[in-house]
Amino acid sequence: MRKIVTLILCLIVGNHAFAQEKGIIDNSKSPNVKFKSINFGDCQWTEGFWADKWKVCEETMVPYMGEVLCGDVGHALNNFKIVAGMKEGEHGGHNWHDGDFYKYMEACMYIYAQNKDKEILKSLDEYISIIGKAQHEDGYLQTSVDIKGQKRFGNRQYHEMYNSGHLMTSACIHYRITGQTNFMDIAKKNADFLYDTFMPKPKELARFGFNQTQIMGLVEMYRTLGDKKYLDLAELFINMRGTQKVEPSKVASYKHLGDMVQERKPIRKENEAVGHAVLALYFYAGAADVVAETGEKELKDALDRLWSNVVNQKMYVTGACGQTHHGVSSRVDMVHEAFINDYMMPNLTAYNETCANICNSMFSYRMLGLDGDAKYSDVMELVLYNSALSGINIQGNKYFYANPLRSLESRKMAKTHIVQHRKPYLECFCCPPNLVRTIAKVSGWAYSLTNNGVAVNLYGGNKLNTQMLDGSKLSLTQVTKYPWEGKVDITLEKCKKDAFEVQVRIPEWAKGSKLLVNGTDAVVAATPGTYAKIDRKWKKGDVITIDMPMDVKYLEGHERIEEVRNQVAVKRGPVVYCAESTDLPSNAKILDLYLPSSTKMDATYKPDFLGGVTTVEGNFKIRQDKNQEMYNEMQKPTWETAKVQLIPYFAWSNRGKSEMSVWIPVMWE
Ligand SMILES: [Zn+2]
Repeated sequence: MRKIVTLILCLIVGNHAFAQEKGIIDNSKSPNVKFKSINFGDCQWTEGFWADKWKVCEETMVPYMGEVLCGDVGHALNNFKIVAGMKEGEHGGHNWHDGDFYKYMEACMYIYAQNKDKEILKSLDEYISIIGKAQHEDGYLQTSVDIKGQKRFGNRQYHEMYNSGHLMTSACIHYRITGQTNFMDIAKKNADFLYDTFMPKPKELARFGFNQTQIMGLVEMYRTLGDKKYLDLAELFINMRGTQKVEPSKVASYKHLGDMVQERKPIRKENEAVGHAVLALYFYAGAADVVAETGEKELKDALDRLWSNVVNQKMYVTGACGQTHHGVSSRVDMVHEAFINDYMMPNLTAYNETCANICNSMFSYRMLGLDGDAKYSDVMELVLYNSALSGINIQGNKYFYANPLRSLESRKMAKTHIVQHRKPYLECFCCPPNLVRTIAKVSGWAYSLTNNGVAVNLYGGNKLNTQMLDGSKLSLTQVTKYPWEGKVDITLEKCKKDAFEVQVRIPEWAKGSKLLVNGTDAVVAATPGTYAKIDRKWKKGDVITIDMPMDVKYLEGHERIEEVRNQVAVKRGPVVYCAESTDLPSNAKILDLYLPSSTKMDATYKPDFLGGVTTVEGNFKIRQDKNQEMYNEMQKPTWETAKVQLIPYFAWSNRGKSEMSVWIPVMWE
């Protein structure tokens, strides 16, 4: 009997007694999650790639962004001050500027969680106090609508849902990291207001929700406060979409209809990722959060289809998403900043908004939680090293909104936020704080907790001090020069005596990897694209070694991708490379560059170049004759041979004006 009682108690208390509730997403009690978050701060970068990026984030990215957003250029704090009656003036920035300020605040919180700088907390308290004064008594909060005197929920493009979503997410993180409730009080009041507004399901608001970050925010509110009404509201926003007649209306402009906002079909019936890439991927990420709580199969099946469509038919080699600035969906709806048809992958005009790329990794992180499958962490890593980091310069104070795979000086650019060279401020400011908060929080993605062990999702020099789901302490260190070198040593510093598993990710590209424990074969298959599970008794001092070959590889696209036929992309480990005109002979242009298929590349780590990167170098052919007519009769080209260095794609546009290409025509030899 005693045994049964103990067993029942274990089942009830079980995994949850020691589950970690301070993760980036708190899935500690989520019944359908296999890979659970570690508490934020349990993993700290120590040295190497991410430690260096985190330092730049702490010292430049976050403080610089604070100066911009709290000053007259960025204007975000001013907007709150105006509504709070503390300042006079016009609204600055776009409708979604409040949400972007909440993202900046979130970045501050992740930095504080690691460095405990009290000044950061003080600033956050000041912002929170101002935001609180800008909030209406009934919970409504949106500076653009208030300052411009617009009608609440008068148009879904006002981004009220987006701003609320980021408010809720940011407040949950603030509560988890600081234990303070001042920001959470504001978010709760706003979430309750949304509940009271939308839960009666008024017909006039049935198509509401444009950029649906509120779904993720509401699930996080449910997880933090335990009130199921927030989960119900999150589900309502999923269920509403795709159920109404698609036509222009007062709340929905003719430009932003149908596939553009994923409203042609209910998500559960959808087979294709469509429309605005950020809207779509935030929507899918939110739906994955809902599945984590409900376990609903129909919704999960739809997310499996959508993830696969994104990654296998619409994603760039850099992990980027959203092929076009303006175009049409496969169902011929006008779309903007969006996915288009499968395998239609322009390079020069690729849009690839930094936010969309980051959303791709956020969606994948949530799917990783549900399935524990390495295909998701492969995508997270691909995005992080390539199409996320390309959104900011090495110094940490200039931004890209669009991340094309080719850039030419001759391209005609409209005067928009799509720029050829990074800018210190973008009026449409959604991407910079999204990226900065991501760089600040990557350590929270590096590990997950499994039922009886830990999973290593990302590599980088770090220390992990955490508690496993059964409450036992686990400390380990990771020493590596990844992504520039493929050897990773993980040393157990403290662990329980009973057997438990360490799951190490063998990236999909890492064919021929070796897996050792204390220098001898781990006798576990190191299959690329899987987590290799080493389940045994561990003791202090045990060392797991993963040795991944870092060969330079030439990648081809699927035969259906017309834009890259007979071209190759160069990749080494998780890092995609590009040619930049700065590295070409003085008379050569980026389009003159061809790669002989027999060229062998040498990789060299350069600690003082572009923040410390490995470049690859080899013999290229430079075409001498120029074809300047639209069409030219073919003649045998003339060539020069030149040694050219390629740099990581994320590091381009840091050395003055230049042209760039990821895909390079190949000469078969
Ligand atoms: Zn953006």
